[in-house]
Amino acid sequence: MSSREKGARCITRGVTITCDIQSGATSFTVQPTTYKAKAYSAASEESPLASTTIARRDPTERDVQIEILFCGICHSDLHSVRNEWSEFMATNYPIVPGHEIVGRVTTVGSAVTKYKAGDLVAVGCMVDSDRSCPNCKRDLEQFCPNMTLTFNSLDKHLGGVTYGGYSESIVVDEHFVLRLPSNLNIAGVAPLLCAGITTYSPMRHWGVGKGKKVGVVGLGGLGHMAVKFGRAFGAHVAVFTTSPNKKEDAFRLGADEVVVTRNSDEMKKHAGSFDFIIDTVSANHDINAYINLLGVDGNLTLVGAPAEPLDVPAFSLIMGRRRLAGSAIGGIAETQEMLDFCGKHNVTADVEVIPIQKVNEAYERLLKSDVKYRFSIDMASLKSE
Ligand code: NAP
Ligand code: ZN
Repeated sequence: MSSREKGARCITRGVTITCDIQSGATSFTVQPTTYKAKAYSAASEESPLASTTIARRDPTERDVQIEILFCGICHSDLHSVRNEWSEFMATNYPIVPGHEIVGRVTTVGSAVTKYKAGDLVAVGCMVDSDRSCPNCKRDLEQFCPNMTLTFNSLDKHLGGVTYGGYSESIVVDEHFVLRLPSNLNIAGVAPLLCAGITTYSPMRHWGVGKGKKVGVVGLGGLGHMAVKFGRAFGAHVAVFTTSPNKKEDAFRLGADEVVVTRNSDEMKKHAGSFDFIIDTVSANHDINAYINLLGVDGNLTLVGAPAEPLDVPAFSLIMGRRRLAGSAIGGIAETQEMLDFCGKHNVTADVEVIPIQKVNEAYERLLKSDVKYRFSIDMASLKSE
């Protein structure tokens, strides 16, 4: 920097450095420079998503800039846009949701080693963590106390909040960027970044495999991935659905049995028989009905995140030494492992590709369990806004 006067500014690639001389000492504030990107955001919990422009930081040395090609619609996007998790994770407005991102690298910072312009890559639910806490050291960045979510987290670079994938581009530290298998349809890969890893991770953790009887509750975005993974891991898979019209699809997706949950006789037949049940339901429901289907030492893992607390009678767990567990997405290394597994076993989400202009309609359909089985937004549609 040539000038050492108070307030002197020097712009290097991607950062503005401001130097102030105070009491003989020089202090430096590093502020990334930004560029404008098209996006869809909601201005309040009652507002629909609408076209807008946001600031993204210019890539700094460890950053990868990505042109977003597809972004899946997760039910968490809807919970967040409508501030349904206000008690645990209040929404900051405007919100740009989206954490199932696939795209093409456009630029990389000077210190990036894993990616180059033109690579097909993906970003999931996290864009940063402290990388030094015990959880980060165990590759469990999702449980880092300083983890940055892809949207609605404090943006450590720009201030304000992070903006997600309903946008034409995103800039992410290379550690949180994933490599895509080259053989898969990318519209169907996008949902793997949340629905995929959220089901893969607990199923792996709790040993789902050959000889195990596994239940999947709710056949939506997460549920249909759980069926595909359960099948790929060699388990016997039973689907529990409130939607009779999904029965045939459940078999096609890989289920061995399908129970329409309004039929209590069918439910009774399965009492005490499951090793593992993954509950993906997004709304309040009776989990006790499913705990009672577990055998001795059986495990029910909640990944669905209804806003209201769920009732759990103690005796349902005590009798049979049953476990009730939870799970959140997965770490970066495990997400890469899941993507590689999907490449090898040809696993993708079943998607309905929509233009961004249909996003509000898609949210209404999601609320009616009317999605087969994930919406994937074709981001080329944003160019016309
Ligand atoms: P989704 O596509 O809307 O699927 C949810 C499914 O739950 C529906 O398709 C429906 O399946 C069933 N369902 C909905 N309302 C119900 C009700 N009142 N009673 C019983 N079943 C009902 O949602 P998703 O994207 O898969 O997400 C599911 C949940 O997981 C959401 O709460 C989301 O926020 C959460 N999530 C958690 C994590 C995590 O890390 N833990 C990650 C992503 C998402 P049927 O038609 O088959 O009954
Ligand atoms: Zn999600």
